[in-house]
Amino acid sequence: MRLVFMGPQGSGKGTQAKIISETLNVPHISTGDLLRNAQGELKKEVDKYMLKGQLVPDELILKILKERISNKDCKKGFILDGFPRTLNQADELEKETEIDKYFEIFITDEEAVKRLSGRWNCKNCNIAYNVITTPKPKVSGKCDVCNSDLFQREDDNGEATKKRLELYHKEIGPLIEKYDVIRVNGKQKIEKVAHDILEKLEV
Ligand SMILES: [Zn+2]
Repeated sequence: MRLVFMGPQGSGKGTQAKIISETLNVPHISTGDLLRNAQGELKKEVDKYMLKGQLVPDELILKILKERISNKDCKKGFILDGFPRTLNQADELEKETEIDKYFEIFITDEEAVKRLSGRWNCKNCNIAYNVITTPKPKVSGKCDVCNSDLFQREDDNGEATKKRLELYHKEIGPLIEKYDVIRVNGKQKIEKVAHDILEKLEV
C-alpha cells in the first residue's frame, strides 16, 4: 500500500501518518526528516540549500526519496508525508513508483490559523506544545520536561500562517484536480480521523 498524506499546516497529517504506518506496519517517510537525516554525499548536496534557508530542489528530493523507497522495509508499502505538494512533484513521483491512494487531511483555514496560534515551544529543549489541540503543557507556560519558559514562534502568527495557507492551496489545487485525492475531515478527534482513513483503505 503506497500512500501519500497531504494537508495544511496544523491538520495533523504527521500524526495520522504515524498512526496509520503503525497500524499497517509500513514505514512513515517524512520528507523533512529524510532531508535532515541525509548522509554523506547527499547530505552535502542537501546542505547547500538548507543551510542557506533555500528550498531543496524537487530532483534532489526525488533522488533521496527514490533511494529510501527502494529499501527492503518499503516492500509492503509506505506512507509519504510532506511530498508531493505540487502537481509537478506528483507527476515526477508517479514516474518512479505508482501511488495507490492520496489522502488530504482537511481543515479550514480558520481552523488552521486557530490551531497554529496555540503552538508553544520550549526555549530550552524546543519541545512543541499546543494549548488548543495537544499536547498541552501541564503547567501553563512551562515545559513539562525541563520547566523552562515556553514561547511562540514568529512564523506561527496569523499573517505568516495565512500566507503559507494561500501557498498550500495554490500548490495543492492542481494536484487534487488531476489525482484522485480522498479528503478526510481533520477537525475530528485524532482516533476518528484515523478510523476514517482506515475505512477508506478497507483494512
Ligand atoms: Zn523544555
